[in-house]
Amino acid sequence: MEEKKSIVCNCCGKRFSASTNVIEKDFLCVKKQWGYFSKKDGVIDEFFVCESCYDKWLENFVIPPNKKMATELL
Ligand SMILES: [Zn+2]
Repeated sequence: MEEKKSIVCNCCGKRFSASTNVIEKDFLCVKKQWGYFSKKDGVIDEFFVCESCYDKWLENFVIPPNKKMATELL
């Protein structure tokens, strides 16, 4: 039995319902704990970004991320 989970993209506010497995693979899940030397000492930011928002976000990058193909698809 696969567990369905509902998540909201923090960027566009769209709600998605998918299995936990799919959410891990097809969404960007960010959990970031800011350190002592940042201005957010100890704050933990957590958010989801859906694929289309991710693509739009990356269009704003001056240097695009390195892309590699996964050799083993699980
Ligand atoms: Zn989105």
